Amino acid sequence: MMEARNWTTLFEDELERIAAPHEWAFTLDSTLQKQSDGWLIYTPWTFGRFRCSFCSNCWDSAQVNLLFLLKLYRFRRCGEVKLRIFKQKCRMCTFPVMEEPEISQENIRIAIANLVNRIQRKIYGKNNCIKDQKPVAPDNYIEGPHKKEHCEACQAKVCYTSMLNMDRNIKGDIFGLVPMLLAVLFIIIVIIILIKCN
Ligand SMILES: [Zn+2]
Ligand SMILES: [Zn+2]
Repeated sequence: MMEARNWTTLFEDELERIAAPHEWAFTLDSTLQKQSDGWLIYTPWTFGRFRCSFCSNCWDSAQVNLLFLLKLYRFRRCGEVKLRIFKQKCRMCTFPVMEEPEISQENIRIAIANLVNRIQRKIYGKNNCIKDQKPVAPDNYIEGPHKKEHCEACQAKVCYTSMLNMDRNIKGDIFGLVPMLLAVLFIIIVIIILIKCN
């Protein structure tokens, strides 16, 4: 696969640049889930272009979510990185399938550079001075509405956009809790008064 080779080659180049003391394996895994048992989780986003396999629809998205899991096996003296690139469905078709995005070479390079920054900081404890780089928007990019039902990352609850919405929902729930707590307090007071009267 062309894409996998791009990611792996750029990753190896970056590891060489920082003179990483370990070998690192890199794999693409389209079924990867967020898991915390010793894995470091990194979920950036980037731009990508999708093409529908049924119609001529083609769209750019800023919600190409990436899920990286990183782990260093200290005894085996090697590291492992797994990557899932989340897909999207066409919104013009009645029965669309999840399509893989095309990510520009430049944005793959940026994602890998930021990933290796994380390895430097969180795994090798180095305070490197390189700042994270922002992904580059494609020419004439216009932000469109984000449809949850067409986004694989939204369904897996790792989408940047759905997490923003989730924050809003959590705040809403807290406000909903206040009247309920007041009602419980009122009932407790009534019970105490009743017990005192007896
Ligand atoms: Zn389509
Ligand atoms: Zn989404």
